[in-house]
Amino acid sequence: MQGGIRVGSLFGIPLYLDPSWFLIVLLITWGNSIRWQQQYPSWPGLWSWGVGLALALGLFGSVVLHELGHSLVAKAQGVKVRSITLFLFGGVATLEQESRTPMQALRVALAGPAVSLGLALGLMRLAHWLGGANSPWGRITQELMAMNFVLGVFNLIPGLPLDGGQVLKALIWQVTGSPFRGIQWAAAFGWALGTLAMLLGVFAFLSGAGGGLWLALIGWFMASNAQTYRQYSFLQEILLKTKVRDVMSRDFRVLRAEMSLRDFVDLYCIPAQTPEIYFAEADGRYLGLVDSSRLTQIERSRWPHLELREIVIPLNELPSVREQDSLAQAIVTLGNDRAWLLVRSPVGGVQGIVMRGDVLKPLAPFLGMSGLDIERVNREGRYPQGLNLVPLAQKALELAATLPETQI
Ligand SMILES: [Zn+2]
Repeated sequence: MQGGIRVGSLFGIPLYLDPSWFLIVLLITWGNSIRWQQQYPSWPGLWSWGVGLALALGLFGSVVLHELGHSLVAKAQGVKVRSITLFLFGGVATLEQESRTPMQALRVALAGPAVSLGLALGLMRLAHWLGGANSPWGRITQELMAMNFVLGVFNLIPGLPLDGGQVLKALIWQVTGSPFRGIQWAAAFGWALGTLAMLLGVFAFLSGAGGGLWLALIGWFMASNAQTYRQYSFLQEILLKTKVRDVMSRDFRVLRAEMSLRDFVDLYCIPAQTPEIYFAEADGRYLGLVDSSRLTQIERSRWPHLELREIVIPLNELPSVREQDSLAQAIVTLGNDRAWLLVRSPVGGVQGIVMRGDVLKPLAPFLGMSGLDIERVNREGRYPQGLNLVPLAQKALELAATLPETQI
């Protein structure tokens, strides 16, 4: 999560405020000030509002420290932290990549709750020293302590996207050797717990208990996030298990390099309904890809006298994959601009090509895409709007780097 307003940076990590954050600060300030007005009826109204705001900011200050806990441990492992963002449901630290081992992931996950529980312990001592509930300062400190305690304990609930879910993921990863099993189980727990919270929240709301709606909202947030984790993880597993050889085609033609440009235009370009892919060969060796766009730079009167080899791009200059590479590798190499990718044989020839739509074939049932949709992607040379396959594949490759070859 990133976006919103940048308000500075901590340890080189940019800090952002999502617009929804202002709403929750306002609500918490309001709720707190009413409580404090009731506790200290003789106070001027402005004082209660001041304490309310201080507690709201104290809560989010605690959240920032919690996220910093995750972030600094991740940084110490060499993982770049892209941002910390505060929003409606708290905070989130966005890491550039996955931890490389389950134990590293475990340490990152535990660091946040450890900071919160440590703070709670420190604040408990401070509150005691300030006279506890007998003084306003002691009381404010006690409330901050309670917030940090709840932050630490709540986040340890074992379901993604909560920290406890990350812990569960790391443990299952450690036992099974597969980060995908870890994510999928921890996400399943997150979904179940989120759904339970949603049902309890609705029930509490209907029976008139306070906070029901908020619980239902948190449950919904958790369940829908867990579901996204699960789907991403399934897709990434497919991207790694499927190999280029499973999706590539030989949907191209091989022409003799000594053919004249005139013949090439008359026999191939003009009759072709849609643009086709041609490779030129001489003496049984591939010379490269025929780049018909270069025809426009050559005068027509010269076409009969020039050979196809004049407009060839050598294979070495084309981005390529090998047939044993994963689909994730193909998607990353394909990037966002190219329409297709070359599959090179071990001896450097052309084994096949991968069209942009081809990489979607194994994912189609998950994405709800039909054969017609895939044909359209091949024709247009770009993925449907909103399908960000490149970062997903990139993450899959990072995870794969943590696994022994046999696990994939
Ligand atoms: Zn956390």
